[in-house]
Amino acid sequence: MAMNFCSHCGAQALEFRIPEGDLKPRYVCGQCGYIHYQNPKSVVGTLSRWQDQVLLCRRAIEPRYGLWTLPAGFLEIGESIGEGARRETQEEANAAVVLDRLYTVITLPKIGQLHLMFLADLPQPEFSAGAESLEVRLFDEEDIPWEAMAFRTVSRTLRCFFRDRLQIRQKALSEFPLRVSVL
Ligand code: ZN
Repeated sequence: MAMNFCSHCGAQALEFRIPEGDLKPRYVCGQCGYIHYQNPKSVVGTLSRWQDQVLLCRRAIEPRYGLWTLPAGFLEIGESIGEGARRETQEEANAAVVLDRLYTVITLPKIGQLHLMFLADLPQPEFSAGAESLEVRLFDEEDIPWEAMAFRTVSRTLRCFFRDRLQIRQKALSEFPLRVSVL
């Protein structure tokens, strides 16, 4: 991500260069010398279930306006990943879910993001569209709008879920495992 000014001293004197003793170029302030390290951001969310169905939101915001997603968003400073996942589900789907377990951990090195999705349960089928959603719905597996998914991390999490759920029903798996991958 490009930077225009130093957030440490305010100077517009940033240089993009390899600092002494480092291996990668960084934004270094020519005035105060501050080195601006940039690290991946975390996105947290839930795959929430009600009986055999899963909860999806249709996005009311860019990017990917009008496409379907799991409720998810950037982790805030000061909250745990579980708190962030529940908050995003509350904000986007007006749903107070109970977390089950961390389920998918997907690294996206090219865009500098880490996506963490929890399995969760709706205590009641109560939800509605939050400010960032056009529509919130429960879907059976056969009705999932695969062609209208907003993000590949969402498709991957859902595909893992339906595959693992089938394996659990067939007794080939005893429970949902943690699925770690790179996209
Ligand atoms: Zn500076």
